[in-house]
Amino acid sequence: MILRLARRALSFGIRGNLKQYETTARRIIALEPGHRHLSAEGLRDRVAELRRQVQSDIALDRIKEETFALVREASRRALNERPVPAQIIGALALHDGHIAEMKTGEGKTLTATLVCTLHALTSEGVHVAVPNDYLAERDARWMRPLYDLLGLSTGVITQEMDDDSRREAYRCDITYGVASEFGFDYLRDNMKFSLAETVQRGHAFALVDEADATLIDEAGMPLALFGPLGDRSDFHQAIDAVIASLQPSHYEIDRRRRVALTEAGYSEVEKRLQQRGLLKDSTTLHDIASISLLHHVVQSLRAHVVLARDRDYVVSDGGVTIVDGLTGRPMPGRRYDEGLHQALEAKEGCAIGEETQTLASITFQTYFRRYARLAGMTGTARNDAGEYNEIYGLDVISIPTHRPMIRIDESVLHATAAGKLRAILREVEDAAARGQPVLIGAPSIARSEALAAMLEANGWRPRNEQTQDDDTVRTFAVLNAKHHAREARIIAEAGAPGAVTIATAMAGRGTDIRLGGEHADEATRARVIAAGGLLVTGTTHHDHGRMDEQLRGRAGRQGDPGRSIFHASLEDEFLVNAAIGVPPADRTAAIASSVATRLIRAAQKRHETRSFDRRLALLRFDAIVQSQRDHVYDLRRDIRDGNDTITLAKRLRHETIDDLIERFAAPAIPWDIAGLDHAIRSVLTLAVDISFPTAGSRGDAKALAQRICAIADRWIDGKIASMGETMFADILRRLMMASIDHLWSEQSERLDHLRRRIGDRRLPPHQVVAEFQIEAFALFERMIADFRRDVTAYAMRVGIRPA
Ligand code: ADP
Ligand code: MG
Repeated sequence: MILRLARRALSFGIRGNLKQYETTARRIIALEPGHRHLSAEGLRDRVAELRRQVQSDIALDRIKEETFALVREASRRALNERPVPAQIIGALALHDGHIAEMKTGEGKTLTATLVCTLHALTSEGVHVAVPNDYLAERDARWMRPLYDLLGLSTGVITQEMDDDSRREAYRCDITYGVASEFGFDYLRDNMKFSLAETVQRGHAFALVDEADATLIDEAGMPLALFGPLGDRSDFHQAIDAVIASLQPSHYEIDRRRRVALTEAGYSEVEKRLQQRGLLKDSTTLHDIASISLLHHVVQSLRAHVVLARDRDYVVSDGGVTIVDGLTGRPMPGRRYDEGLHQALEAKEGCAIGEETQTLASITFQTYFRRYARLAGMTGTARNDAGEYNEIYGLDVISIPTHRPMIRIDESVLHATAAGKLRAILREVEDAAARGQPVLIGAPSIARSEALAAMLEANGWRPRNEQTQDDDTVRTFAVLNAKHHAREARIIAEAGAPGAVTIATAMAGRGTDIRLGGEHADEATRARVIAAGGLLVTGTTHHDHGRMDEQLRGRAGRQGDPGRSIFHASLEDEFLVNAAIGVPPADRTAAIASSVATRLIRAAQKRHETRSFDRRLALLRFDAIVQSQRDHVYDLRRDIRDGNDTITLAKRLRHETIDDLIERFAAPAIPWDIAGLDHAIRSVLTLAVDISFPTAGSRGDAKALAQRICAIADRWIDGKIASMGETMFADILRRLMMASIDHLWSEQSERLDHLRRRIGDRRLPPHQVVAEFQIEAFALFERMIADFRRDVTAYAMRVGIRPA
């Protein structure tokens, strides 16, 4: 009840927003005549003046109306398009940090320029994140004349760019780029050795185009930088030998094919690992310090008892090849991750492949939450409003279309997959014969190939050079998300009379389909309109209702006529996987559409909830990792940009000495003098005379610590005197940064292993995250202690080799 009330209040609040935006939009349009007479220079001067005002702390809200009006005028001059009220309203929503839902073809690219110009006035940089290189370049090139007219600079970030060009692009007022590149640049910047080498200026305002593709679809996979780890064949072989010798009583497998060691198994494995020197005698696999070792033990166990040769993988040409669980076909080149593939190679006696190591990683969720202000736009957001709100703190506002939408949407549920395909073929042939263009949506590349094969079996031919101009054959085109630029052109032509196009993954394509074709004349366009506009044929529903919407949304743009029909069958994977029971009475050839709709929504809801929960869990883990990441990056930045390296090194040295005393000589009675002596020699390279404490008192320990500190300080002072302070500080600075990078990379990996192994403990969901937090923190403290010890040990050893 309360929930329902809250939701009503929410939608009421948003409707209130829309009303306000409409009023503001009217005022903005009314300002326009005032700018008509301005010269190009006058336009630029106004913008420069507004920039000065923002610099002297005038709020963006107070100048947004004039700014939008100026952009509108610039757009008219530069692009011959004037933002319509719906676009101004959309931009106002974006400025307020919302997700603006604007249908395909409504002109989101131009809408963005209004809000980007406004935020560019802060001079802190505006980032426009798009799904791929092609769109980044296209949008920047397309909008640049407008920004030029306003005196604003634009840059582009794409994958294949060196740091100098990136830095240049980030220095611009507005930077278009691929969403993942923004995240990678952030990670890479935090591994640079000087401020001058970094490329980003900060994270003030980001606008995410095709927000659902980036903020939701891709949010399930973290961005990760990898580096080679070197050859660890011996390690994998040693673990394999231990696991190969286990008896069935040493492990258990559950229904979901998860495997775990029994208590007896733990003892056995620990004993054998200790014999091989892989585990210290005093430690167990349960110790937090052993988390990565445990991870590889479990992977080897999975390789031995869960994965079966010739079912899950085959061994050929001395290598392990994964077999696709659904089709049973080998998939050369694909590898299991997280060391599982290496474990299999060890099991099968194959050469062990090179391993990579995560140097740094971050999720899209965490990266985009860094921005002081974030906004997004997409054609389909309604469905995911809860997720945008919970994960990004963003509200969704649906912007009414400029012209009314007249597309007709239908769903048909067939009893069998074969019946469904027959219906699809009939529908496509009828439409194409009438000159109506058809866009066929396929859920996967394999399915799009199957659909193409069906068309070919019925006399159709793939469109290519030869078939292009031959009117006697019926042709179709296939796209499956590899060559963005070429595919964007095919999509652009998909509206030509009678064109048939099979496409996978319409999310994030960012190209709209014009009736008649990209540069069609009026007659051609009229012919397609008479044939009913674009027909979108869905060949199965997607797990997410949003993906259905993305596909349907290709038809009926800007008030065009159009139709979308989704065909599904009771045998479709997505219905079967959702395990929604269908009463036998409903399993007839013609399934009532009310039943069909209910079934399909129920199945989609189930899938949507599942994947939302997965992303939310990923975010909760990453939020904990982020607190450590922030800490590490802050420390590293202080070292990189600070000028007090020598003092910092001294502090670390003294803390390291305290650690040693704490461990060997403080509360413990009697002191472990041999251990302390050994540690002082190996860490500090010093020989210190340690006498037995009078009564093992705290005071003695403290005095001893001070004495060691004094000796170590003198040793370092000597180095500084011979090397010079600048050189010594320089060497230390690099050393510290390298040490942080190395330790943080190891830590990231351990945290990843921890996250996976905690999943094995079968805890209730809320406890999983709490447990992770506690253990992650323990790992973090160890890492920091390792850092000061490593830095101290290096510092005590550096020197100039005598010539
Ligand atoms: P979206 O990203 O919303 O799907 P695009 O930004 O790709 O849409 O724009 C679709 C088409 O609409 C483009 O060809 C663009 O030139 C055109 N367009 C956008 N805004 C306007 C406008 N205000 N007046 C005329 N044409 C416009
Ligand atoms: Mg777009």
